[in-house]
Amino acid sequence: MAEPTQTAIVLSSIELTSHVRQLVLLQKESPLSFQAGQWISLKLPVGTRPPLNRAYSMAVPGTESGELTLVFDRVDGGIGSEYLCRLKAGDEVIFSGPHGHFVLPTTLDKELVFVARYTGLVPIRCMLKILFAKTPPLSVLVIAVGPREDELLFHQELLTLAMTHSRFRYLPLVAAGGEQQAVDLTLTMLQPLIEGAPKVIPMLCGTKAFVRPLRAFFVDAGYERKEVKTETYD
Ligand SMILES: Cc1cc2nc3c(=O)[nH]c(=O)nc-3n(C[C@H](O)[C@H](O)[C@H](O)COP(=O)(O)OP(=O)(O)OC[C@H]3O[C@@H](n4cnc5c(N)ncnc54)[C@H](O)[C@@H]3O)c2cc1C
Repeated sequence: MAEPTQTAIVLSSIELTSHVRQLVLLQKESPLSFQAGQWISLKLPVGTRPPLNRAYSMAVPGTESGELTLVFDRVDGGIGSEYLCRLKAGDEVIFSGPHGHFVLPTTLDKELVFVARYTGLVPIRCMLKILFAKTPPLSVLVIAVGPREDELLFHQELLTLAMTHSRFRYLPLVAAGGEQQAVDLTLTMLQPLIEGAPKVIPMLCGTKAFVRPLRAFFVDAGYERKEVKTETYD
């Protein structure tokens, strides 16, 4: 059976950084109900065998009016993301979803440690909005790695959150040298926080080259694989 799809209209497309854009879509049908951390699959009319399926996480929790906010980086030579960059207000997009299990655990009984590289922060930002809409029940740490200082996503927002909530810590890192450097820097931060300390709830997001070594670190530190929640983008 064909996957059910919906149509949305582009409300706005704005540049967040020189490589990252935010797209706000409005569904034509009834508003989509989704959990923070989930994603939709866009069916894009490009590529050799369209539609090209590309997944994008929601950056903002659901609203009554049904806007879907996506944030994505323009991948060099990336067919899907380059097409998305060209979309303008009034254009239509077809999608399916919501999909995915990278969502907040039902029991929040330990510190949450979110680790993301670049646009891997998008679903985490959505979860933070849910968590900090009221006083969160526990401490939250975000380690966010960007390729340049001016490409640290949601940086001001996270700094403000850290200044206004004593239970929130934000560690931004810049790794211009690619995924391996991003992993190395992140491990330098994580080791003293994790090794020999009470267990946390780790949630990791980014490309496989970033997420897999970090998951392996947690497993080596005594975590079961299922205790380490991950979302990979490639
Ligand atoms: C569950 C899920 C959620 C996702 N959510 C987001 C999101 O919220 N924002 C977002 O920007 N992307 C997200 N992605 C990635 C997105 O679906 C596309 O893979 C990405 O935009 C590249 O598509 P493309 O067609 O432009 O590039 P392609 O033509 O498919 O080329 C991709 C190549 O570029 C490299 N690459 C560089 N940067 C990325 C990247 N960020 N993601 C994937 N590959 C990359 C990879 O090595 C890959 O080989 C998500 C992916 C998954 C599976």
